[in-house]
Amino acid sequence: MTREPASPEAPEGAVRRVESPANPAVKAVRALHQKKHRSATGLFLAEGLRILTEAVALGHAPRTLVVLPAMRRDSMGAQLVAATLAAGGEVLEVSEAVLAKIARKENPQGAVGAFPQVWWDLDAIDAHRAFCWVVLEAPRDPGNVGTVLRTADAVGAQGVILLDNACDPYSLEGVRASMGSIFAQRLVRTTFDAFHAWRARQGGQLVGTALNATADYQAIAYGRPTFLFMGNEQSGLPPAYEGACDTLVRLPMRGRADSLNLAVASSVMLYEIYNQDRRA
Ligand code: SAM
Repeated sequence: MTREPASPEAPEGAVRRVESPANPAVKAVRALHQKKHRSATGLFLAEGLRILTEAVALGHAPRTLVVLPAMRRDSMGAQLVAATLAAGGEVLEVSEAVLAKIARKENPQGAVGAFPQVWWDLDAIDAHRAFCWVVLEAPRDPGNVGTVLRTADAVGAQGVILLDNACDPYSLEGVRASMGSIFAQRLVRTTFDAFHAWRARQGGQLVGTALNATADYQAIAYGRPTFLFMGNEQSGLPPAYEGACDTLVRLPMRGRADSLNLAVASSVMLYEIYNQDRRA
């Protein structure tokens, strides 16, 4: 689902100059740092020219783009402005002081965008021919989810399914950790029961990861599609969820650490699944 970026020629006058941080449009963008405003509007923030440009290349135009005047003279900045306007979004040109009030990053590279969140419905997904989906049980840390999205994107997984009481991957921390992959991966949020019923219709293998599993993660053959099931940062996978898995694997550890970080464990697993797939 990619869309050609629009012409870099932004029509003059279509960009609104905003001087005050108290301007309602600026305040509305800034409010997206809070989850309640992200939930109410279905929007989220991304910062930085590179990530915003990647978002547009992947077919996601900002609903609101906030830029420094210098950005409009930069070719990438001008393309961003044009793509936003072409998609019916608004462009606010602001001073560095106003941008600093909106951005969390010290140097947001002159641009911040408010984008519509995209959530996929499980019933709209056919995973029969997929390579891999990552399933995260109630992750608490959006930075972990963002990192998982980034690795999932790197290995060509189809997306990430968030189960039960998951954190918001569209927080700035999650978006930042994903390094743009949040625009490339499909995101689903659902319950374990709905996921389980859907997965039964997809075939493939549900591979759970657990510290107490007996099978070494490299002793298993991962076919297509593999559903990689990762546990919560504090409590792991609930026993009933482990029981629903076709296979449970562990990542061996010989030092003193009692577990790996969720995103690190996901990455090691995803690379094993990817390595087996590319050698097959
Ligand atoms: N105290 C938790 C537990 O008992 O599972 C630790 C959770 S760990 C920080 C988060 C998730 O990463 C786990 O649920 C599992 O999915 C995965 N994980 C971390 N280290 C692992 C290992 N050595 N073997 C298998 N999975 C691991």
